[in-house]
Order: sequence, then structure tokens, then C-alpha cells
Amino acid sequence: MNSQTNIIEHVWKDHIFQGKWIKTNNLSREIINPATNEVISEVQLVSIDNVNKSVNIANEAQKLWKKTTFENRAKVLRKAAHFFEENIQTFIDWNVQECGSTLLKATWEANACIEQLYMAASMPMAASGEIFPSSIPTRTNVWQRVPLGVVGVISPWNFPLLLSIRSIAPALAMGNSVILKPSEFSNVTGGALLAWLFQRSGLPEGTFQVINGESEIGETLVNHPQVNMISFTGSTGVGKKIAETCAKQLKKCALELGGNNAMIICEDADVEVAVNNAVWGTFLHQGQICMQTGRHLVHRNIADLYIQKLKEKALSLNVGNPSLPETHLGPLINATQHQKVCNIVEEAIHNGAKLECGGKGEKLFFYPTIITNINKDDPIFTEEIFGPVAPILIFDDISEAIEIVNSSKYGLAVAIHTERTAWAYEIAKEIKSGMIHINDQTVNNEYHVPFGGMGESGYGGRFGGPANFDEFSQRQWVSILEKGIKYPL
Ligand code: NAD
Repeated sequence: MNSQTNIIEHVWKDHIFQGKWIKTNNLSREIINPATNEVISEVQLVSIDNVNKSVNIANEAQKLWKKTTFENRAKVLRKAAHFFEENIQTFIDWNVQECGSTLLKATWEANACIEQLYMAASMPMAASGEIFPSSIPTRTNVWQRVPLGVVGVISPWNFPLLLSIRSIAPALAMGNSVILKPSEFSNVTGGALLAWLFQRSGLPEGTFQVINGESEIGETLVNHPQVNMISFTGSTGVGKKIAETCAKQLKKCALELGGNNAMIICEDADVEVAVNNAVWGTFLHQGQICMQTGRHLVHRNIADLYIQKLKEKALSLNVGNPSLPETHLGPLINATQHQKVCNIVEEAIHNGAKLECGGKGEKLFFYPTIITNINKDDPIFTEEIFGPVAPILIFDDISEAIEIVNSSKYGLAVAIHTERTAWAYEIAKEIKSGMIHINDQTVNNEYHVPFGGMGESGYGGRFGGPANFDEFSQRQWVSILEKGIKYPL
């Protein structure tokens, strides 16, 4: 742990964040570096009573926050962006040491957070409604956006900063207060550091709070009748449970869920480019990305060349200490995830698949793995693996490839490699996927373009750019008559 990271640890030690740091002697949780298995810090967990109190505080704070001027809301978010920029190394260090992110990934994520904050800072000054004509000539019809109230943000550990900030920042911009429940595997990076960030940005006390805890803390937040929206990013299984609870209360929920993303490499593709893209899409962050390229569909005529080149590249990647600049793959997040990846690879081999390389790992590390000769119904091809594994299936005809891609319950991201871009654009219309990238790989995120999945990958919303306005507000029709009119009764 470098000195800068150590300096700020005192901020959360023995404290929870309810708009200000409160000293408690609640249960605590050790923060373990997955690369070294060392205890690097400790956070205080909240109790169910703490959650209920946080909701009350957030509710009161929101009544004032929604009335602050748009300039003030923009200023707070700009200040958060500046503070993040000034302290970027601290955010990067924690992401590397708590979450096993490589320096490359952690640096990309930190910069993406700054972009998100600046984008959110522009939201308060946008038009907040539209004027509609009226059949009563003296009447004005205003259709305006109003905040939702208290927004609960529940985030995962794989991009703990970005996937929290992409909801927190626009929700605050639209006049909501926010309670963040980070993953238990990113309590500091995805929780305490964000409390530190927003407290230093001049946000009024209580408008943003963090609740660290296990799943029952998340459930309490989702269930609370005074929480008006849940913005969840995580697994499809948990997303379904959240959707069920929200449905019972008719509570708005936006779910960004799992994926099993395909890359189709057509006969006329540039194999060098396709392999380069596939390596990024499959192995970045050890494959622990919802948009990871988890299914490679390669045309038979180029399959041998593609497999040979992908294997050469996979074998050249460095696996190890994620804080070293030369490391390409760090550790998986925990033993459960490591075991899951081992099991799915072993099962595929048992079912007749051929292991081209990798297939094993030491401690929490796992080597880049390529598997061929697989059955399209095998879990290695149908399930989200969340590990550095490239299962390859060969196809002869594009209609066969489309059918295989669409057979997945997920629908997050798909990539197509071909020289015929206009043709690929037509193919894109046949594919069930929220995001399709032509001559690219599946891991793409541009903060100003609405992001989201179809099928079991997403439900109820989109993040980014213009989508954020509707995502984090609700509409209200206000009609205005200067003087009352007479009705015939
Ligand atoms: P997870 O679903 O296990 O946990 C996500 C969050 O939900 C955590 O904060 C967890 O504590 C909380 N939680 C767990 N049970 C809960 C419950 N019953 N009620 C309320 N909250 C609960 O997911 P994870 O392992 O942290 O993340 C990996 C998953 O997230 C993968 O499936 C991945 O594809 C998905 N993901 C999706 C996107 C996207 O944008 N579509 C982005 C990143 C990750």
C-alpha cells in the first residue's frame, strides 16, 4: 500500500457515513487484497436500524436539495470532478489493491468517472420540461421533470467506482438524494472513497450516504417504502429478486445485469484486428466484465488461423501483481469466483472440449484460457463465466451464427467483424442485443451514449447521455390558468 492510500484510511476507520462520518462499534469487515491475501483495511458495517435512519436523513435532505439552484447543483458536481482529478492516484491505488484491477483498467475507470461527473454537472442547466398547447386558449400546459426523491444505488465490485458514479451523479444532478450500497468486495473503492469524494464536494449533509453490508442491507434498502427508486447493477439472479420486491411497491427500478456476449468473426474479417480486439474483450480485468467477449463465433474458413493467433497472444500475456505496469491480468476477485471458473472449464473438458491453453491458475490467479471443440449447449458457452476464458465455436453460415447468438437468455453486447459494414448494419437489426459494435469488441462504454441490455441483461432503464434525464426523474403535468374558467355544470 503506498503512502497516499494510507493517508486517507483514517477517514472511514471505525466510522459509517450518514452524510457525515459517525463513530460506531458495529460489526466490521476486513478488506483483503485478492493478489496477496493481506488485510489492507477494515470498514464498519451498518445495521438495519442504521439503514432506516439513513433513509429518514436522505428524505429530509432531499427536500432541501431539490430546491437548491441549478448553479449550485452543477457546482457541487464540478467540484466532485475536480476533487477526483486531484486525487486520481488514490482512487486508482484502491481499485488495484482491493479489487485486483490492473493499473491499465483502474486508470481507465478513474478517468471515465471524471467524465461522468462533468457530464452530470451539465444536467441541471438543461431544459426541465416542455410546453404543450391547450384547447383552452388562456391555459399553459407544462410537462416537467421532477425528482423521484430518495434513490438507492446498489453496485457491483468489478467496476466499483464507475458503476456507482454513473447512477449517483445523474441522480444528484436531477435533485434526488442517494444512498449507495456498494458490493461487500469493494467496500472502500466503491463506498468509503465515494463518501470522501462527495463530502469534500460541498454536497449538503445527508444528500449522499453509504451503507456497507451484506445482501440483507441491500434488501432493507430495496424494501424501504421511502426509497423511491432502485438503480441496480449486478447479477441477473439478484436483479430478479429486486424487480420482484420493487413490483410489489410499484417502485421504479433500473436493472443493468449479466451478459454472455458474442463476437462474430466472418470469413472476410481482418484476422489480426479481430484477434487483437478479442484479446481485449475477453481478458481485460480477467474477464470479469458484464460485456466480456464470452462467446467467439468464427467462420470455418478462418478458424484455424484465428485460433493459432489468439493462442499466441494469450500465451504472451503476463498474469500477476496488478500494481505492476507490465501485468495484463491480475487476480480474480475471490475464491468463490475462482472455483466457479475452474468448474466450468473442467466440465467443458469433461464433455469433450479441447483446451488450447490456460485452464488453471494459482491462488486467485487464472491463466488466459482458450477452449475449442465445444458444444453450443455446454454451460461454458451458455452461461456468464466472469473469468479469462475464450470459448470458440465454428460456424459455416451467418444465419447459423445469428441463431446461436440469439439463443442466449442474455442480450447485452455483440461484436461483428467483416469488411461488409453496410451488410453488418443489416445483420445488427436481426440480433437481440442492447449494444452492437461493428469491427470492434464487446467491451465498450462511452459516457454520453445510452448504455443497456435486452432480455435478462437489463430491465427498466438505460444509463448515459440523454437517457439519464428520464432515468433519474419523473414527469408531471402542470396546467396554468391566470384566472379560473366557468364549466357548464
Ligand atoms: P451481485 O448481484 O452478486 O451483487 C451486486 C450488488 O447487489 C452487491 O452490492 C450485493 O451486495 C448486492 N446484493 C446481493 N444480494 C442482494 C439482495 N438480495 N438485495 C439487494 N442487494 C443485493 O453481483 P456482483 O457479483 O457484485 O457483480 C457481478 C455481476 O454484475 C455479473 O453478473 C455482471 O455481469 C453484472 N454486471 C452488470 C453490469 C451491467 O452494466 N449490465 C456491469 C457490471 C456488472
